[in-house]
Amino acid sequence: MNEPQCTYCSMPILSGEEGCRAIFKETLKKCYLMKLPHIYLQALIGSYSLQHPEPYLKEPKSTADFLTVLYYFLHHEQDEDLLRARRIWIDSAFSLEYANPPEFKGALHINHVSVITEEQEIKKRMKEYAGSVITAYQMHNDKIERWCDMVSKVRGT
Ligand SMILES: [Zn+2]
Repeated sequence: MNEPQCTYCSMPILSGEEGCRAIFKETLKKCYLMKLPHIYLQALIGSYSLQHPEPYLKEPKSTADFLTVLYYFLHHEQDEDLLRARRIWIDSAFSLEYANPPEFKGALHINHVSVITEEQEIKKRMKEYAGSVITAYQMHNDKIERWCDMVSKVRGT
């Protein structure tokens, strides 16, 4: 018999996807109460959603939203102007290409972050989690690059 796991992200867990979702909600609440910067909360939601496309990625735009969030979180976390430009871009974007989710959605899961209570360590783990997810989506790197070009144009205005 197979090990019990989350149907979407494959994290080994007895209570399956419901248990996985419960851990995500608790972790998000913990990060919110720790008053982590907004981009960290967005990245946590993005990483988790990209690993759970069926319930969370209903609109094509959502993949573009979350993949660019992860990209800027990993590479331009401190650049407020760029993060603002990204939000303006996604709010006004339409008919973006859909990025099909990969079969394998990353080696790390929400439990990589959920077990930590210390702020610096949780921030570090969130980066690792996001890195693992965006690597799993790397066949869409050309799309991410095009979207980031659009964001840079918004910033230039
Ligand atoms: Zn899961």
